[in-house]
Order: sequence, then structure tokens, then C-alpha cells
Amino acid sequence: NNEKVNGPIAGSVPRGKESGWDDNICYFIKKRLSVWCRLPNGKWDLGKIEETLGDEATISLLSGTVVKVSTAELLPANPDILEGVDDLMQLSYLNEPSVLHNIKHRYAQDLIYSKAGPVLIAVNPFKEIPIYGNEILTSYKQKAKDSPHVYAIADAAYNEMMRDEKNQSIILSGESGAGKTETAKYVMQYLAALGCGNDSMGYEILQTNFILQAFGNAKTSRNNNSSRFGKLIEIHFNASGKIHGAKIQTFLLEKSRVVQLANDERSYHIFYQLCAGAPSTLRDRLNLRMASEYKYLNQSECLVVDGVDDGMEFHKLVDALDVVQICKEDQEQAFAMLAAVLWLGNISFQVIDNENHVEVFTNEAVENAARLINCRAQDLMLALSTHKIQAGNDFIAKKLTMQKAIDRRDALAKFIYTRLFEWLVVQINKSVKVGELSTGRSISILDIYGFESFKNNSFEQFCINYANERLQQHFNRHLFKLQQGEYEEDGIDWTKVDFEDNQECLNLFEKKPLGLLSLLDEESNFPNATDLTFTNKLKQYFNDNPCFKGQRGRAFGVCHYAGEVAYDTNGFLEKNRDPMHSEFIHLLSSSGCQLPKSASLSCQSGGLESSMQSVATKLKSQLFKLMHQLEKTTPHFIRCIKPNAKQFPGLYEDDLVSQQLQCCGVLEVVRISRYGYPTRMTHQEFAGRYGFLLKETNLSWDPLSMSVAILKKINFLPDMYEVGYTKVYLRMGQIERLEEQRKQF
Ligand code: ATP
Ligand code: MG
Repeated sequence: NNEKVNGPIAGSVPRGKESGWDDNICYFIKKRLSVWCRLPNGKWDLGKIEETLGDEATISLLSGTVVKVSTAELLPANPDILEGVDDLMQLSYLNEPSVLHNIKHRYAQDLIYSKAGPVLIAVNPFKEIPIYGNEILTSYKQKAKDSPHVYAIADAAYNEMMRDEKNQSIILSGESGAGKTETAKYVMQYLAALGCGNDSMGYEILQTNFILQAFGNAKTSRNNNSSRFGKLIEIHFNASGKIHGAKIQTFLLEKSRVVQLANDERSYHIFYQLCAGAPSTLRDRLNLRMASEYKYLNQSECLVVDGVDDGMEFHKLVDALDVVQICKEDQEQAFAMLAAVLWLGNISFQVIDNENHVEVFTNEAVENAARLINCRAQDLMLALSTHKIQAGNDFIAKKLTMQKAIDRRDALAKFIYTRLFEWLVVQINKSVKVGELSTGRSISILDIYGFESFKNNSFEQFCINYANERLQQHFNRHLFKLQQGEYEEDGIDWTKVDFEDNQECLNLFEKKPLGLLSLLDEESNFPNATDLTFTNKLKQYFNDNPCFKGQRGRAFGVCHYAGEVAYDTNGFLEKNRDPMHSEFIHLLSSSGCQLPKSASLSCQSGGLESSMQSVATKLKSQLFKLMHQLEKTTPHFIRCIKPNAKQFPGLYEDDLVSQQLQCCGVLEVVRISRYGYPTRMTHQEFAGRYGFLLKETNLSWDPLSMSVAILKKINFLPDMYEVGYTKVYLRMGQIERLEEQRKQF
């Protein structure tokens, strides 16, 4: 029982390790049972084994084709009665093709939800299916329905909270476009419906989604409404189960998007909404133009999203801002800041000497930006094109070179936008917080972006994947604990299983002073350091670390729980420093504009001090706080899956799904959840189904005694089963023998 539940995740469960499969091949031939056969093109197909010769098997596929493959390319298929089961735990054989097939089979019938033990799997349908709304919601509430559904998860969390007075959490994960944010909305909708009191708090909380989405979501190549920040919303209830208030925390807003766009992607929705929807009086006051006239927006040649009317969305946004009681004056200030950002992007520079030093072009862009920020155009121009250096007791202004000036301008735009976003979160929180928030009666919903592995991975992926590494540990530990608890409660001898999780990879990130994050900070503070010196340092220190892979040039690899990712350190130091130039602080604090000032001072604990921290350090402390908070809750996990990259309905791409099942460790979940004994049946179920095996049943027998008698009768080897107080536990493949007898009976 000491097999390690270890690193190899999901599909990479060593084959044949599903104990006894090698011995079982003969049985599969004899009984003409179906097997999965991996064809030379890597695809899995169903077939039957005709014969084996040494390591080679002859397989007749369902299509009629006969192929010869190595027996290493075969895996057992599940019996037909298990086709499309709603919990993967019920599969007799847990392997990648079986799981893929099962989910696909359900998806084809619009059954987008399945369970993997305690975890809900949600496959994005990319179309509306009639499984939401009041009627369905009510049937889950009344327990008239129990098929897997996001409502069922929300219901379970709510009931556990009310019963045990224990905080709950619902943790969504999955890659971009998988449906996390939509699924989170259904959770909130359910909770709002369950917990709607007399006031409109539930409605107000639902409206916050819309606001944060306008300011924090954008069209990307993967998702037309992609969240570019992580979000935790805590919903609090009172003693009678009514929603009482909420609190929102956000993580890691992607700020580069404000100034730089990949082709075919957009900046944050709000910019386009404002340009399309602002009424004429506002347009005049902000000197607003069409989106196409702003460089920050038109650079990607993508200004509209199919099926979205930005002008209409703007009106909905203003309504939502009203609902959360952001006053008209503050709304206008916020819009002015947005317009200022757009005008900043149109500011250009001219070279004035042969050392590439620049000055700002005086044009309407500078004038408008300065007016909106509420400072003098002269001061803005100085802040953008010079930097101060100390000479004795004096400061002298030195002109910047072209690239430095452009970076400075973009930094100011990003700075203003992030302050605005933080300010908004603070305002929303003021509005949805009612008195003191309860303890022990809250449900937190976490929607954070999932693991990312692209061809080119930069600092952003490094941060996101680190965050996911932390969440994964939380996930593993919780499942494992559940598992252990179940065995112990049922009186099963639980020989301590050596459970290795991803601690080693986390150590690589977090160890002090020698971890990726510490070294990154150290180099970021060192004036002469470059991305290359940083990479070389890593290679020097982590050469022997099994989670680290040195690569050529500026690249290095990390072996994450979800696979190896190669990072290019280009820009790591600068992005980590995220400098907040003293010129900006000076500029904004002397400006007449309250908003960015108040935001930078009131946002998060520590105010300006927290802005001095490096990005990586700030993320690490946010994550520690988050984990600490989540550890005090009972978690519920939802793994969202994107069935195709085109955002099409009805298209299920095996490879893509398989890769995600690995990344979010779905097979691993089931494996841990049934660790050792994949089949579990209550004594009632077991005795009811296989009682026929006992010739004379003693009517006074209780189900437990019957189970024991059946197990004796069938002559199972002693280590093939365990009898608990409430359940029978069977090793892999044993249930088939019983089923076989039942068929013959
Ligand atoms: P990101 O990480 O980029 O924020 P995400 O996982 O939050 O991605 P969503 O924005 O929730 O993904 O979903 C992407 C799109 O998929 C939605 O805009 C919607 O069109 C569709 N979608 C997701 N879930 C559902 C659902 N349950 N029913 C119908 N359509 C859905
Ligand atoms: Mg999202």
C-alpha cells in the first residue's frame, strides 16, 4: 500500500500500474472485452484483442480494421453499463481514454457537468443550454434533482455553512475561456436566490460582476471576455441564511494591456464602452473621440467584439455603478481618468539632439491629458521627458532618450489605470459591506486564472503559474485528507501512504534566501543586474534542483505540477520592479485630481508602502494571505474545461481536453479519491446486488454479515478487499468478477 501518490499526474499515471492489468489481458481476450488501443497517430480507439504474441497484440477495431500494436499501447475499457456515468469514480478502469470518452459521451448530450469524486467538472458548451434559471434552481434547492450541476455545488456549500457554521469556499480553475467566470456567476446567482432577504443586497452583489468585468476583462485571442485579474468574493450571510454583505479582493491585474496589445486583442472593455456610449455632454467635457482615434486602442486593429454593442454596455455599466452607489461625481472622475489614459497614448516625442534625447510634441494630446489629470501641461511634459538627478544639494532635470520617454509615458498610463481599478474595488467594497461581517457564515468564490503554458512564457506566466502551484497544493492536501478521513472513519487500516505533493516545486519558488522569488528580488535591486545575469544566477544555484531546468541563453524551465514550462526572462527584472517614478507621485499629488491620490493611499493595507514592494513579493504575500484564509474554509472545487480553442459549440477536441485534464489533475483526483480501493459500495448495496451468490441466506443477517459471507464465498484473496463499518472496498478489477458471476446467474 506504499505506492506513492506522486508527481505523475493524470494521463501520466504509469500504465500497468493500475494493478493487475497485465494479468488481465488474458481475461480480456477470453471474455472478448473491449480495450483502448493507442494507434500510431496517438489517438485512442476501441477494439478487441484477437491474440497476443510476446509483446505484440492483434486488435480488431470497432471500425473493422485490424491492427498490430505493442501491448504497452493497450488499456482496459469499461463495460457498456458504465458508459456516460455521472461520476468518474464509478469507472472500473480509470485511464485517460476512458475518462476522455466518458466526458465526451456526456458532452454530446449537453450533459456538461460531471463529478470526479468530490470535484465538479464543467465543460464549456459555448452555447446556451436550458439548464439554468429559477425552475431548475428550485429543483436543486428542493433536492428534487441531484445530477451534477454547479447549483448542486452551491447548494452543498450553503447547506454545510448553515449546518456547521463553518466558512465555505468554491474554487474555480481552468484555462482561459474554460468558463470559470460564467460558472462563478451561476454560483452567485444561486446563492443570491437562496439568500435573498428583504433588501437588494443579492442584486447589488451580482451587479459588481458587471462593473469589475468592464474594467478587468478584455477580448483576447482565447476568450472574448477574458478576466485579466484574479478575484475572490466572500459572500456573508446572517443567522437566518440571508445575504448580509460581501467583500471582494483582486489579484494581479494585467497592466501591460493598457498600453500594449497583441494583434486581434483588445484593451479593457471599459475604454470601448466609454468611447461608444458616453452621452454628448460627457464627450464634450472629456474631449472624447472614437476608439479608433486612440493609439492605445487602434494598435491591434481590433475595435469590436462579435455580438457586443459597447454603447449599450456603457449604459448598463452606469446603471450598475448607480446600484453600488458610486456617486455621479466620482463616476465622472473615473471616466476622466480613462480619457486621460487614452490621451496619454496619443502623446508623441521628437528627437532634439544627436544623442536621441527627446521633448514632448505639444499638441492636443498633451493638453487634453493634462487637463483631465488636472495638472499643468508643462508639468506633465516635464514628467514624461526628463528625470531628476541629484547634484549636490540640487536636483537637475536630465532629458530622456526616445525609448525611455515612451516607457515613462506608458508607465504613467498603467499607473493611473491600476490606481483607478483599485479605487473601484475599494468603492464597491464600501457599498456591499454591511456592518461587521459575520464569521462562520460566508462562502468565498475564487476565480483566478489557470495554469498557462505557451510557446513564449514571460513574467506574467511565471506569476500565474506560481499562484496555481500554491492552489494545487491546497487542492491535493484537501482531497488527500478527505480520503484518509473516509478510510479512518470506516475503520479501515490506513497504512500511512507516503504522500508527496508539489512542495518541492513550491520550495524552488519560495525558499529564502535561495528561491526563484528571492533571487529575482535580489537582482531587481541590484543596479547593474540584467535579465541575463539573473538567469545565470538561477542556473548556478539550481543546477541540481530536480524542479529546475537550465536552458540556453535567457531561458529556464520549471517542472510544474501540470508540466514543464520554459520561461524567457526578457523583461523579468523591470516587470518585477514595476517602478513608480517619483515624478508621477509628485505630479499626481500636486494635481487637483482626487481619485488616483485617494486610491493609492487607501488601497490595500500599507498604502504607498505596498506599492514599493516588488510584484513577486506582493504576489507571494497576497497568496499566503489567501491560502491562510482558504484553509479556514471547507473547500468545493470546480474544474472548468474548454472543449475547443475556437469557442464553437459541439466541438470536442480530444487532445485539448486531455491536456487540460492533466493540467487540472482530474485523473489524479479520482486516483487519490479511490486510492487503493477504487470500488466502494455500502453493505446494503453490496448485499443487495450480490446476495444471490449465497445459497442459503440467513434472514437475520445484517448487510455487513452478508457482505462478509459473499466475499468469503467468492474466494477473493485477502488483500483484494477491505470491509469497513459501512462499506465494502474492492481493489481494481475485482468488481468485474462479481459482475461476471451475476451475468451467468
Ligand atoms: P478567462 O480565464 O479568460 O477569464 P474563463 O474561464 O473565465 O476565462 P468565461 O469567460 O467564463 O471563461 O467563459 C468564456 C465564454 O464561454 C463565455 O463568455 C460564454 O460565452 C461561454 N460559456 C462559459 N460557460 C458557459 C455556460 N455554462 N453556458 C454557456 N456558455 C458558457
Ligand atoms: Mg474569467
